[in-house]
Amino acid sequence: VYGLDGKRIFVAGHRGMVGAALMRRLTAYDATLLAVPREEVDLRCQAAVEDWMARERPHVVFLAAARVGGIAANSRYPADFIYDNLMIEANVIHAAHRAGVERLVLLGSTCIYPKLAPQPIPEDALLTGPLEPTNEWYAIAKIAGIKLVQAYRRQHGRDFIAVQPTNLYGPGDNYDPETSHVLPALLRKAHEAKAAGAPRMTVWGSGRPLREFLHVDDLADAVVFLAERYSGEAPVNIGSGEEVSIRELAELVCETVGYGGELVFDASRPDGTPRKLADVSRLSALGWSRARSLRDGLEQTYADFAAAPAGSLR
Ligand code: GDP
Repeated sequence: VYGLDGKRIFVAGHRGMVGAALMRRLTAYDATLLAVPREEVDLRCQAAVEDWMARERPHVVFLAAARVGGIAANSRYPADFIYDNLMIEANVIHAAHRAGVERLVLLGSTCIYPKLAPQPIPEDALLTGPLEPTNEWYAIAKIAGIKLVQAYRRQHGRDFIAVQPTNLYGPGDNYDPETSHVLPALLRKAHEAKAAGAPRMTVWGSGRPLREFLHVDDLADAVVFLAERYSGEAPVNIGSGEEVSIRELAELVCETVGYGGELVFDASRPDGTPRKLADVSRLSALGWSRARSLRDGLEQTYADFAAAPAGSLR
């Protein structure tokens, strides 16, 4: 075990949903947490990153900084998605190597796997087929990040690893009705339907697609677990190991919110891929499992959502 106590730990992207969860998780350690606002160090700028890393000399780096977004953002800003992510990864990984960083964890996403990968998706499905065209800008950059991590391990013996989280939810999520993912969208819809006393609430598609969801605080726990216990060239998927249908999710959300109206399935909206599940056997074999059930995670997330100041929801 590589202990994090006493270490200087840099969380790149500490204001994002994942970075913020990592900051919360790391407060359990007797460590020095380093974070730097974007206005001070633009991670896309090589000189700024190298200067900062040489000065601050972290022992550990969690690379959670990235340009992220849904299908609409990806198709509108392809240059931003590929350029920003490539630059951030190349600058941070190379500067970490130069500064002698002992451990680095690169955060990716299971959407980097081929569109027609087997389900549940094993890590070795990487680069076995064409990507989903709508997010290939992001995916190509993240695949390059995994390769960077592997290359610095091979050539320089650096203990750098890559992890692939499944669909995440929790504090700091995007609740915009048009651009958000299904879980925050349904939480918000149920909350508003209840407040308005609406008799029914709309769910997109057939309700039959299967998805997997992980609370971001469980993700942070898994990432820290891997930073302490895993060293290898192969990337590691991080997921819940459990899938639910969109209908089951909608019912659970309504129970959580206390909304008793009828669910209406809008067939004019797309279902998307029928099934999306990460194969988490590698992570399970290492001995990690999540603390929160989907029910508990939803309850906690709804409490966070309801407590958010009005107007703070993106
Ligand atoms: P995906 O996992 O990449 O397909 O992305 P989403 O999280 O956006 O959608 C997952 C599934 O939930 C799809 O089958 C959607 O049609 C369905 N869904 C049901 N209601 C909603 C909603 O209000 N918003 C979103 N984004 N998806 C919904």
